[in-house]
Amino acid sequence: MAERNPKNQKTDSGKDSLTPLMQQYHEIKSQYPGMLLFFRLGDFYEMFGDDAKRASGVLEVILTQRQGIPMCGVPYHAVNTYLKKLVKSGEKIAICEQLEEPGQTKGIVKRGVVRVITPGTILEDNLLSSKENNYIVSVLISQGSDKIGIAYADISTGEFQTTETDKKNLKYELMKLSPQEIIFPESVKNNGIYKAILNGTDCAASFIEDWRYNYGEAQNRIKQIFKLQSLKPFNLENKTLSVGSIGGLLAYLEKTQVNQFPQFQNIRYYSLDNCLLIDETAVKNLELIEGINTRTKENSLLEIIDFTLSPMGSRLLRNFILRPLIDVNEILNRQRRIGFFIDEGITRRKVRELLKKISDIERIVSRCATFSAYPRELISLKNSLEIIPNLKETISLNKDLVSLPESLSAICGKLKIPEGIFALINKSIAEEPPVLIKDGGVIKEGYNSELDELKKISKNGKSFISQMEATEREKTGINNLKIGYTSVFGYFIEVSKSNLRIVPQHYIRKQTLTNGERYITPELKTLEEKILSAEEKILKLELKLFREIMEQVSSFSKELFTLARALAEIDVFNSLAEAAVTYNYTKPKIDDSFELSIKDGRHPVIERKIKSGTFVSNDTYLNADTDQIILLTGPNMSGKSTYLRQTALIVILAQIGSFVPASDARIGIVDRIFTRIGSGDNLAKGESTFMVEMLETAHILNQYSARSLIILDEIGRGTSTYDGISIAWATVEYLLSKRNKENKGPKVLFATHYFELTELERKMKGVKNYNVSVKEYQNDVIFLHKIEPGAADRSYGIHVAQLAGIPKEVIKKANDILFELENKEIEETVDSDKKQLDFFVPQAGRHEIEYSQTNGNSLKDFVSSSSKIMVELDKIDTNSLTPLEALAIIDKWKKEYNK
Ligand code: ADP
Ligand code: MG
Repeated sequence: MAERNPKNQKTDSGKDSLTPLMQQYHEIKSQYPGMLLFFRLGDFYEMFGDDAKRASGVLEVILTQRQGIPMCGVPYHAVNTYLKKLVKSGEKIAICEQLEEPGQTKGIVKRGVVRVITPGTILEDNLLSSKENNYIVSVLISQGSDKIGIAYADISTGEFQTTETDKKNLKYELMKLSPQEIIFPESVKNNGIYKAILNGTDCAASFIEDWRYNYGEAQNRIKQIFKLQSLKPFNLENKTLSVGSIGGLLAYLEKTQVNQFPQFQNIRYYSLDNCLLIDETAVKNLELIEGINTRTKENSLLEIIDFTLSPMGSRLLRNFILRPLIDVNEILNRQRRIGFFIDEGITRRKVRELLKKISDIERIVSRCATFSAYPRELISLKNSLEIIPNLKETISLNKDLVSLPESLSAICGKLKIPEGIFALINKSIAEEPPVLIKDGGVIKEGYNSELDELKKISKNGKSFISQMEATEREKTGINNLKIGYTSVFGYFIEVSKSNLRIVPQHYIRKQTLTNGERYITPELKTLEEKILSAEEKILKLELKLFREIMEQVSSFSKELFTLARALAEIDVFNSLAEAAVTYNYTKPKIDDSFELSIKDGRHPVIERKIKSGTFVSNDTYLNADTDQIILLTGPNMSGKSTYLRQTALIVILAQIGSFVPASDARIGIVDRIFTRIGSGDNLAKGESTFMVEMLETAHILNQYSARSLIILDEIGRGTSTYDGISIAWATVEYLLSKRNKENKGPKVLFATHYFELTELERKMKGVKNYNVSVKEYQNDVIFLHKIEPGAADRSYGIHVAQLAGIPKEVIKKANDILFELENKEIEETVDSDKKQLDFFVPQAGRHEIEYSQTNGNSLKDFVSSSSKIMVELDKIDTNSLTPLEALAIIDKWKKEYNK
């Protein structure tokens, strides 16, 4: 504490005005540029200069000045609360500790940074969400090719994965991982590539020297850290980009986790070719893991199907949803595991009871590896381990003897408790330890004889004190004499005012109170010395022992991570079974065909959000030739978007291995899902609605394969009617014509309000018209939400306007106009000067109403110009067309045909 005030430090040289302490501070500070340095001074972490100014604002702590230097501090025991605020505001914090005991050395205490806390390297429990991973990602972009290497880790759970893929997949991967921090090579900093990558995310960027990404260097680091002879066990041989990106990540972790390198089970190489790719816009639009409007789990698919009970399980389920499978056998395997828990209701429920008691084993182990676990976490680890044998038995010895699927018994086989760990925690940690190790009493009696001895001294010492109190009372005849303790004065003898006369000569007066005096005696001080030193030793020893125990626990990390993964899988399959039973899902048939056939499909989220039992189920049939495109027309609000999304969601659920909301389903494997849904307006990013729409459409047209499922919910809406119809028409033709070698094309669900497009069914094989049926009743429209074959016969926009509460006069006039448009040869009454549609000309009479079609064209013009446009469209190669070229063409059309 003496060091808390830097003023106490005398300068040792005249020419340097800095105190030695501040010299030490600046030396350390210079090694961590851009970060806040938490400089430990006694019981506080202090910040100086600009750091102090920056932090005091965020933390709302008082900024003081010492010798003209701004400073502020936070007490070390409450540091987590402060760290939380700083990390949230995007700061990186270097924690600088005292590396030796004050008083042990002459001069100033040695200090050093033990850890750097950055958004991607958090371990503190209260800074993490237990249901989500906290990923840190490293990206290496190839110079010569269009490939990249991605490595990512969650140091709080021990997960480490890597892949090599095309550059265009980067955003998609980042979207799924939603990392807190991305590491790049130093050199990228200057060319700004990283800024483009970070655009639209709220994640931090960090940099590490380029040479760390060097294949040879990175390879050596991996071998050293994972104790390997070669990279073969990790399938990383010759994967230069992957290995490089791992090198960067490991180097960064070494730099930040100075004294406490995290434990990783292994590095897993994954390939994007092995999973159903869900485009980043699709993840958003289909609301897989968060609702579009809520930006939280609420209203998402995850919210509905998540019945997991352990933190590991809920993190894994999230990852499952984002990476559905494409291998039929793997999917069938998952179905069998889920099917088992569905059939075995009693087992399922028992397993659920047991899973509830399992704590976050992954994070506890990771915290042991970095010496940051709390005593109570070890007890919850022990309690979790205690449940394992019971869990294993419950699953493998179910009474009904339904045979256990092989793949599930394989998982059960991984439910192994590493030898000795239970006993270790059981004999070393007290059953109900205090929250913090420094509170003492963490280590159980009988674990360490030295500790037991010290505790005896400390305890006896206290009884000596009360003995001494009794004898002193007797010797002095002062009945109310008492021995007390304060942290400032230590032990003392207190005598009240009335007895001061008879205080013995050898009592040494220490303190005067209003109604008495406090004394010490040499005898009392000797005893005090003994007791206090024992207590100090106890704390130190407990700390040391606890560290050793954490070290031993983390020596089992490999086995414990395997166990945790097995638990997570059991939790996820059990959870999907629970969802299937609760919601009455069925098992889909999965095969390699190009067919998609769903009977009575439902939207998993909407059916839960509307009044129970009111959701109208619908069939879907698609294949790669005769029924390639469902062209869905129908009034607004009738259920088109819902239908499109439900089909995609059913495919995703099926390929996760889950059961699906339908009475029957047959799913031929889908390799990618694309969506173009007319809602997300990225105006904030400076892109106009129509531009976004065209970018998304171009992206789809350039990427799809014959196995893809494409959801187009309105295209061409962001522009004038003719442009819109033309673009939509051309898009459909393109999707029909670009096919693979076996003449298969993608499956498409296309909702549109352009009735003109329903003509396509007659003209092209593969298009099927469907509409959402409605019933008209006394001028009202009732939505039946039922999808049926055939095109809708008209639009019901006005009825929807009515539902929305548009004033009656407007509705009435609109109906009149509609009547005109539908029943009469339309006379051209448009005067180019009068483009305003005057709804409120009271008795103007129908025939005099001036109307404006979009941009003032007549229907006749429309027909002739649109056929010219069609001819031109025919010549365009959409494959090579850039969005800008498309815009230029549309602009030309507007000028030419839109006079
Ligand atoms: P559209 O895309 O045709 O404008 P939506 O798909 O957005 O219509 O559906 C509008 C609303 O109608 C939904 O929010 C939902 O409440 C309801 N709805 C849609 N489909 C169904 C259905 N199959 N059963 C019951 N309600 C539905
Ligand atoms: Mg819609």
